[in-house]
Amino acid sequence: MEREPMDVATYTENARRGPCFICRFVAGDPEYAHEVVHEDEHHLAFLDKWPVLPGKLLVVPKRHLEHVVTDLSEREYLDLLATVRLVALAAEEVLGGERTYLFSLGSQDGNSHLHWHIARLPHGVPYERQQFEALGFENGVLAYTHDERAALAERLRSAVAARR
Ligand SMILES: [Zn+2]
Repeated sequence: MEREPMDVATYTENARRGPCFICRFVAGDPEYAHEVVHEDEHHLAFLDKWPVLPGKLLVVPKRHLEHVVTDLSEREYLDLLATVRLVALAAEEVLGGERTYLFSLGSQDGNSHLHWHIARLPHGVPYERQQFEALGFENGVLAYTHDERAALAERLRSAVAARR
């Protein structure tokens, strides 16, 4: 799939100065809409708007929590991770590839709302371009059309639903 350059300056400006994009999304603000692949009472999983790898996903608690460990009770933590696992298994089925990367980053200075990333590494990526090298914006992001994105979300939604 084609890649397009990532406007890192605008992305960074929005992350640092804008409202919490996840809370705006949860509130239903159309400006912050994403393709949802799974939703339950406490969690949302959706396609990353700037995918560095095919079908990259985010899983979030609906509540604005920040610390990946200490802001959740053990039960909440395990429920969130169970959701990550559910969506990751569906992603493996739909996207194929050779490995699943799971990570939670964010910053107190931008995108502070706790989020887990799910990224499938496709087959055939040379070792030197795997892991951290596969995850930066330096090589741009995948240029999904609106329809491609919607179709991918639909396949992922079906795969998640089939596992519940
Ligand atoms: Zn938030």
